[in-house]
Amino acid sequence: MSYPYAYDAPVSQTLFDRAAAVTPGGVNSPVRAFRAVGGTPRFMVSGTGPYLTDADGREYVDLVCSWGPMILGHAHPEVIAAVQAAVARGTSFGTPGEGEVVLAEEIVARVAPVEQVRLVSSGTEATMSAIRLARGFTGRAKVIKFAGCYHGHVDALLAAAGSGVATFGLPDTPGVTGAQAGDTLVLPYNDLGQVRAAFAAHPGEIACVITEASPGNMGVVPPAEGFNQGLADLCRENGALYISDEVMTGFRVSKAGWFGIDGVRPDLMTFGKVMGGGFPAAAFGGRADVMAHLAPAGPVYQAGTLSGNPVATAAGLAQLRLLDDAAYATVDRVAGEVSGLVSEALAKEGVAHSLQTAGNMFSVFFTEERVTDYDGAKRQESFRFTAFFHSMLAQGVYLPPSAFESWFVSAAHDAAAIERIAAALPAAARAAAEAAA
Ligand code: PLP
Repeated sequence: MSYPYAYDAPVSQTLFDRAAAVTPGGVNSPVRAFRAVGGTPRFMVSGTGPYLTDADGREYVDLVCSWGPMILGHAHPEVIAAVQAAVARGTSFGTPGEGEVVLAEEIVARVAPVEQVRLVSSGTEATMSAIRLARGFTGRAKVIKFAGCYHGHVDALLAAAGSGVATFGLPDTPGVTGAQAGDTLVLPYNDLGQVRAAFAAHPGEIACVITEASPGNMGVVPPAEGFNQGLADLCRENGALYISDEVMTGFRVSKAGWFGIDGVRPDLMTFGKVMGGGFPAAAFGGRADVMAHLAPAGPVYQAGTLSGNPVATAAGLAQLRLLDDAAYATVDRVAGEVSGLVSEALAKEGVAHSLQTAGNMFSVFFTEERVTDYDGAKRQESFRFTAFFHSMLAQGVYLPPSAFESWFVSAAHDAAAIERIAAALPAAARAAAEAAA
């Protein structure tokens, strides 16, 4: 298959060639390599508000927002000022600092089930540590996860994961041993009966159920009515912990993340992305009696040289403080407008699609059926997404380079940015309609 626009980015292509010589696949995170859609990954040099500029000097409306974190847009002046002030004071001390306390207080104040929180540096670290804590707390080994849910590249959770793993169609990955994945039970998403059956089959063995609060890593597939509550109830009845992974949804879909929308109380929660303001900051937290098992208060070990880094915490805190009700209302409105325009353009060209939303996260599946689990997500005609993606890219709109990802907007997407998206959509929808497998 040829992509008419794919190689029209000579400076990015040169950088990609250089990168490939020194970095596996030329990237530091697989989905950035454009393997699912083909063509040259755009090397970005700057971002302002809703726009990114690439190394060839082209500007794009950004609908990825760094995979979620940049909810206020790029280079928000107040976030940048907070970072500059923090940097001027020094970049890492390896001691406790006030910024960590204030950020933890902000998280605890926003998200009711979080009584105590530990800061880490990536979402992967957060979920890995939460699982370890759940195992340490319960004295049990087994973990239930759902197919299509991605929780970072934690060994035990790289079984039927979504995100880059979904993109590459890898059911699993070499390098994860049977022993590491052997205690992981992978169940279809949105099927409480299977969860009930798993608890019945493994009495007293299941430490926790981990789920994306509302999955965005197989595309956007929200939980069915009552699913999250059912998980919480089954965990309680069976002495297991319910871990809600809010790395993607946390502080994005509302002030209190997905918890602020469905109100289901987890025992532990994980966060990342938005809470770092574009820096590596993440966290896990929850019930104080469970968190009390964490070192140095308790026996479950967990640590990090850069945990609670003063620059990252300053960025995260500045961003969270700007995220008031008005900011969320703006992000929600932008998401509604953009997703509506996309669906309208596709419908006009007769392209079968399912627009799926979860608060202000949304994605488009190129299929008629509503997608409720990973098998459904994989049944879409992703070749249509490829054509759609490249048309949008050529017209200056940057979408996630995979049909299995959420799209993200920001409070900085103003009328001019939305107008640019609207102007690009008719040709992209036509390209999707004309695409052949
Ligand atoms: N959990 C979820 C729900 C995610 O979406 C991600 C990343 O996309 C992670 C965990 C891993 O976070 P990180 O990439 O910061 O390690």
